[in-house]
Amino acid sequence: MAVSSPSRRLVRERAQLQCEYCHADERWQFIRFTTDHVLPQSAGGSDDPDNLALACRNCNERRGNRVEGRDPQTGHVAAIFHPRLETWATHFAWAAAGIRIVGLTPIGRATVELLDLNDDRHNGVVLRTRQRDVSDGYHPPPEDPVLSE
Ligand SMILES: [Zn+2]
Repeated sequence: MAVSSPSRRLVRERAQLQCEYCHADERWQFIRFTTDHVLPQSAGGSDDPDNLALACRNCNERRGNRVEGRDPQTGHVAAIFHPRLETWATHFAWAAAGIRIVGLTPIGRATVELLDLNDDRHNGVVLRTRQRDVSDGYHPPPEDPVLSE
């Protein structure tokens, strides 16, 4: 079943047009963001707004229907970040002046790895986009923690 347009609107407004995983801002992207089922529909996840998150196309596609990944630091399986139950700043921070996302916890690290939030396994266009947004003063979001180096 498709998510209703009132629910999609609610999800977009609640997220303030930010991807709830990588914190990209839709206003500076070329492609409209998608409505992600936090618990995938294939696992019984509902269309209730409590189970929905705004996600950029990269995060949505890379995640697929997975709910867990592997913490590269320990090799242990960890849940991936749940935007409705958890706070981004608990699990992630920006490094390299806002260009790279660092996982602070097993959940954060597994999510960075699974969603390839720094594009290490892809073509690097995400990093170039972030670099541009940092230069233009649009990134990182002001409320996000930034590690000093
Ligand atoms: Zn994203």
